[in-house]
Amino acid sequence: MKLILLGPPGAGKGTQCKRIADRYEIAHLSSGDILRAQRAAGTELGQKAQKYMDSGGLVPDDIIIGMMIDAMKKAAAGYVLDGFPRTVVQAEELDKALAEASEEITGIVNLQVPDDLILDRLTGRRSCPQCGAVYHIQNLKPRAEGICDRDAQTLVQRPDDKPEVVADRLKAYHEQTAAVVSYYEGRGKSVIIIDAADDIEQVTASIFSKLDVLCSRVG
Ligand code: ADP
Ligand code: ADP
Repeated sequence: MKLILLGPPGAGKGTQCKRIADRYEIAHLSSGDILRAQRAAGTELGQKAQKYMDSGGLVPDDIIIGMMIDAMKKAAAGYVLDGFPRTVVQAEELDKALAEASEEITGIVNLQVPDDLILDRLTGRRSCPQCGAVYHIQNLKPRAEGICDRDAQTLVQRPDDKPEVVADRLKAYHEQTAAVVSYYEGRGKSVIIIDAADDIEQVTASIFSKLDVLCSRVG
């Protein structure tokens, strides 16, 4: 399966993509996670991306497209894309790369959530600097406050989850990313709409029920 998960920051893309990747045994390719790993490793790409990420704006398309297409090529068992494509140009370039490889996306899922829930989800998000596990201070608490269940590391808040940066990330979503859904619909691709305002387990159940149908069709 080759899937795309769309939705605003804080919609639950990362949380749901991890579960999708486990269930369908495909790779979880998160553009944000790959960028953060590049930054942590101090690569040229990571250094170039830093100022855009810190300000809540989008990293330029030319940096992102090659990075994601490389990751897709390595994911032989299939993948779920998280955070990419985030502009119409990225969606067009993704289509070109797929056509060149005679490949097709199996399904596109859009997580819909109103803006008023997003601020709380992002400012309450905490993650493990070691294993990347994601929690929420109210909605998905670790067993011990502030400590990762898996490896006992102290959880951290992403610098771009501070309220002042969240506003700019939401602006970038509405100005540049929301149009990606219309791009796919305009090209006759069906987009599975999921109400992501529900709780985490309910959203997972809704996604799995739709993807199980797609999965049985592709075999
Ligand atoms: P995204 O990758 O779309 O930015 P995440 O999966 O990181 O979103 O989720 C953002 C925050 O909201 C995390 O702290 C996560 O635990 C929490 N969260 C995710 N889905 C839900 C949900 N359906 N209801 C409540 N909180 C959620
Ligand atoms: P979230 O999980 O909240 O949606 P991400 O981790 O996906 O956030 O992205 C964090 C930041 O990385 C974005 O605010 C942006 O600066 C950059 N980024 C991630 N994916 C892309 C992309 N496809 N195009 C441009 N910038 C991106």
